[in-house]
Amino acid sequence: MSVPERLLPVHEPMNQFAVGDGELLVGGQRLSVLATRVGQTPFYAYDRSLLRRCVAHLREALPASVKLHYAMKANPMPAVVGFMAGLVDGIDVASAGELKVALDAGANPQEISFAGPGKRDAELRQAVASGVLVNIESFREVVALREISSEIGLPARVAVRVNPDFELKGSGMKMGGGPKQFGVDVELMPELLAQVGRAGLAFEGFHLYAGSQNLRADSICEAQQKSYELAVRLAEHAPMPVKFLNLGGGFGIPYFPGEKRLDIAPIGENLERLALRAKTELPHAEFVIELGRYLVGEAGIYVARIVDRKVSRGQVYLVADGGLHHHLSASGNFGQVIRKNYPVTVGNRVDSPAKEVACVVGPLCTPLDLLADRMELPVAAQGDLVVVFQSGAYGASASPQGFLGHPPCLEILV
Ligand SMILES: *Cc1c(COP(=O)(O)O)cnc(C)c1O
Repeated sequence: MSVPERLLPVHEPMNQFAVGDGELLVGGQRLSVLATRVGQTPFYAYDRSLLRRCVAHLREALPASVKLHYAMKANPMPAVVGFMAGLVDGIDVASAGELKVALDAGANPQEISFAGPGKRDAELRQAVASGVLVNIESFREVVALREISSEIGLPARVAVRVNPDFELKGSGMKMGGGPKQFGVDVELMPELLAQVGRAGLAFEGFHLYAGSQNLRADSICEAQQKSYELAVRLAEHAPMPVKFLNLGGGFGIPYFPGEKRLDIAPIGENLERLALRAKTELPHAEFVIELGRYLVGEAGIYVARIVDRKVSRGQVYLVADGGLHHHLSASGNFGQVIRKNYPVTVGNRVDSPAKEVACVVGPLCTPLDLLADRMELPVAAQGDLVVVFQSGAYGASASPQGFLGHPPCLEILV
């Protein structure tokens, strides 16, 4: 007996994009017209109005005192970073290359923070000279920053990234708790903070980042509360009052069947309670939340054109001009354990009543190049436009564009 269809997990509706004349509207324009305007497929398109809407929605749910940072590794396209810099309170960078993009985009150095294991001396020098906040992740960085500060004649602005003794439950990628290459273990904090004080660095606070891609508000609230309480305990060892408290992020977006959009209302209420406690426990501290994919992921699509339609032993294959080399994560090869389909449609036939089960594959000569595995899609033909939703984060910059020598994709902000 087959499972009744309504019991099978389905994708969240991708209703952030409107539909007009049977086509997806992106930046208010029909997809086929947009593709002509771009002049080629494949491309990524990011919609400004959706970026703006997402930030406004967050601001409404979070206490006004909480600062919102954009972790630009999610989408480092310079136009996106520039647009986001005008909407959020700060930019988080994870390399000197990202730092350059953020500074070029006009982000205020006072509100940029730099995290990442293995920051090279040259990168630390650039960060100190730029006046950005450096998240210290090892004892070596304390020594290097002391030397750089005296060489430049500016005390490095620093926060300490703590590897906490807990994890973010239910997160897609764990980046804290247990042994980790990120931050410094909480057990070593008293010694590290003493060294920061002796080195004469301008200590500002703590950075705690427990994990990514979490769709459970209760887990995020729990991690934020534990992070806050840990910071209160560590503040006793700090060389200066805590001004900056980065409580992490980890807000996820629904990618796969059965996943639901994160409810941010309880997270806002939880932060409200913590902010109230901080008035007496950490009276100088400003809370920061750093988000990547949550801010940009839903605002972006990847678009490829169907170059061939084949049937192999009864299975329909739509062969597109783009795939894994531009969009590694949609192919299932960017950290996923079990491959699942991203939400995909045929963007110029979204309303079409004629449906069929098809596989969407890319042009690469490897079976890994799969954008949709046996998905129900509008019946499509050569020339139609395949759309992968939820593609505004970890797309072009997180994909091996050189693999197999196909042309690169374009990115546009509309
Ligand atoms: C990757 C990363 C982020 C962004 O993660 P998302 O899942 O895109 O929100 C934020 N902070 C740090 C420290 C990171 O490494």
